[in-house]
Amino acid sequence: MKDNLLAHWQSVGVIKDKRLIEAFKKIPREKFILEGYLKEAYGDYPLPILEEQTISQPTTVMIMTEALEVKEGQKILEVGTGSGYQAALLSVLVGPKGKVFTTEIRKRLVDFAKQNLNAADIKNVEVIHTDGSKGYEKEKPYDRIIVTAAAPTALDTLLGQLNVGGILIIPVGSLYSQEMLKIRKTEKGLEKESLGMFRFVPLRGEHGWG
Ligand code: SAH
Repeated sequence: MKDNLLAHWQSVGVIKDKRLIEAFKKIPREKFILEGYLKEAYGDYPLPILEEQTISQPTTVMIMTEALEVKEGQKILEVGTGSGYQAALLSVLVGPKGKVFTTEIRKRLVDFAKQNLNAADIKNVEVIHTDGSKGYEKEKPYDRIIVTAAAPTALDTLLGQLNVGGILIIPVGSLYSQEMLKIRKTEKGLEKESLGMFRFVPLRGEHGWG
């Protein structure tokens, strides 16, 4: 099943980053989903997790992660931990000298993600139970920020917590459809690029949909 996805990406010509492909091979996605869906662990669609949330479609996760241009040793903030799978991939990419901080607003998912990350033996991820629409002030600035829930705007608060030279990946739009934005923060200002249209569960909290 894992091989089917890898072959699919190769034939379509997406996901070229070799380190990312290695990270995908290394992380057992089956450890991040509910028992009832084990057979579908490598289906290319989102799967339900707890609290009516979803673990994103593998292709979406890979496109976002590749666009994030992660380098070893970096400090990353994720908004929307969910299952912890995205954070696990990022943890492999930053390596033992890097660190991933991931925020989750729903307590049951904080516990779910912690349990999954432990089961997958991931060490350099910290799961924080907080409203991530405000970022995570305590550990700023970050080299990379990734938002995995639908946001109404490209949150200024998050851009404020990003290093110059840093990249923010965020799906922005309505509750029903969002444009995936890649925003690079440079000395001269912000450079924006669109990665296409996607659909995510809503970002809640102060700077989300409430
Ligand atoms: N990245 C996840 C999928 C995320 S689904 C994975 O790899 O599985 C989106 C998640 O964002 C949900 O778990 C939801 O509870 C969470 N979320 C929504 N609003 C949030 C907020 N304001 N702060 C932190 N997490 C939030």
